[in-house]
Amino acid sequence: MPRIIPRAQHTISRSHISPNALRVLYRLRDGGFQAFLVGGCVRDLLVGLEPKDFDVATDALPEQVKRLFRNCRLVGRRFRLAHVFFGQEIIEVATFRAASAPIQDEELPESELAEEEVAPEDELLDQGGPLTEAGAARLEAEHAGREALVPVTERMFDDTGRILRDNVYGTIEADVWRRDFTANALYYNIADFSIWDYVGGVEDIAARQLRVIGDPETRYREDPVRMLRAARFEAKLGFTLEPASAAPIGPLRALLGGVPPARLFDETLKLFLTGHGERSLPVLRRRGLLEALLPNVEAYLAAHPDSLVEKLLNTGLANTDARVIAGRSVTPTFLLALLLYGPIAAIIESLPPSRWHEIAAILAACDQAVRDAQRHIAIPKRFTLGLREMFALQPRLEHPRGRRALRLIGHPRFRAAYDLLLLRAQFGMASADVATWWTDLQRVSEDEQGRMADALAAAPERPGAQTGRRRRRRGGRRRSSTGGS
Ligand code: ATP
Ligand code: MG
Repeated sequence: MPRIIPRAQHTISRSHISPNALRVLYRLRDGGFQAFLVGGCVRDLLVGLEPKDFDVATDALPEQVKRLFRNCRLVGRRFRLAHVFFGQEIIEVATFRAASAPIQDEELPESELAEEEVAPEDELLDQGGPLTEAGAARLEAEHAGREALVPVTERMFDDTGRILRDNVYGTIEADVWRRDFTANALYYNIADFSIWDYVGGVEDIAARQLRVIGDPETRYREDPVRMLRAARFEAKLGFTLEPASAAPIGPLRALLGGVPPARLFDETLKLFLTGHGERSLPVLRRRGLLEALLPNVEAYLAAHPDSLVEKLLNTGLANTDARVIAGRSVTPTFLLALLLYGPIAAIIESLPPSRWHEIAAILAACDQAVRDAQRHIAIPKRFTLGLREMFALQPRLEHPRGRRALRLIGHPRFRAAYDLLLLRAQFGMASADVATWWTDLQRVSEDEQGRMADALAAAPERPGAQTGRRRRRRGGRRRSSTGGS
């Protein structure tokens, strides 16, 4: 039996719930179904955070949900979910699921974050541009794959295509036990605005504790990503993972090696690009999870305690968090540059100093660091290509040459490379004068930009020319373009 907390005894007000989510809940209720808000949104409302999205759980079958909403599409392979569309906002409606149904793949729609940087071929498609033969073949294969996946899951359909609800769909009592943490397993009932709590989630939230539902070791073995989710919620909510839920992580973290790398990439973005990236890093390290996710980053940080690179990384993550919170866009490419900065610098600095500024050496170091990172997480090529460009642009930004330098402003990676230059300059890894020159350059008219470039070319003391001397004075030795340790 759930503990039912009536409206008068909790703080969730309808004024904090998305009007579209309320519309969905009310229509389900009026259709004679149970309808609850569930998961992260209930948790976030209780701790006073603004939920990222609102998920609905119901006893209506997906087809029944579809019939209630014209703006509705059924998605998901083995487990069908209904997406109800309201302009930009999507309300996800899931039928209560039995414990036997896996939670993993279906609950992970393709990362929205990863979609932000669009691959060139996708851009072409979006604009209705010409479709190459290879592109068409790929699309067709994808389409065939999707079609093929639906009917093979015999658990779900009988001969007539009717859903075998007993195996997959369940009741709210079944639905609750497959969830990961007690704080994530609360249900807000639209019938009377009460909260249903089967697992003691309300107390845990009040105590700011994260507790695995059931036996932690078993639940982590079932789905090792739950260990990363624990770290993510610790960082996001500032909750403490209670000791019994924390203990198995050390011994079990290597199981993350068996998780599909694309899913780990997705989780990495959620850890670092959703507004609490700076806090995620120490939590991951304390739990030994950075080692399991990005061993080369952990190795660098462990070997160089309190390094400038660590400061650059933390500051970069803090800046990224500020952008997310302000609703501005962030890119996985820039995140990758921050995380891999140390490993890349270490590879470059293992070469003789005469090679430190060679573009080929810089690119080779990027490729090596990316290969090391790819051991566990699958990084889409568009981001690794972006990373190479960001690093290859650093020496060109540091030594601007006359009017040719102006062309760099139009480079697709200029913005990210310039942001990296600013960070490096902040920590004495690049000339502050050069960074200021680029900042000023972007503030003036095109004519003025030309004059600045000419003046630079004519000046005996170009900002780019000063860097070497200054750094030598301060650091006592030459530094590479990345200036790591
Ligand atoms: P946020 O969206 O703020 O990151 P969330 O709790 O909503 O956090 P989601 O990944 O959106 O997280 O998942 C929604 C809900 O589904 C969770 O609250 C949890 O109840 C359940 N869930 C998601 N992933 C898992 C998992 N791997 N194991 C068990 N339950 C999960
Ligand atoms: Mg969510």
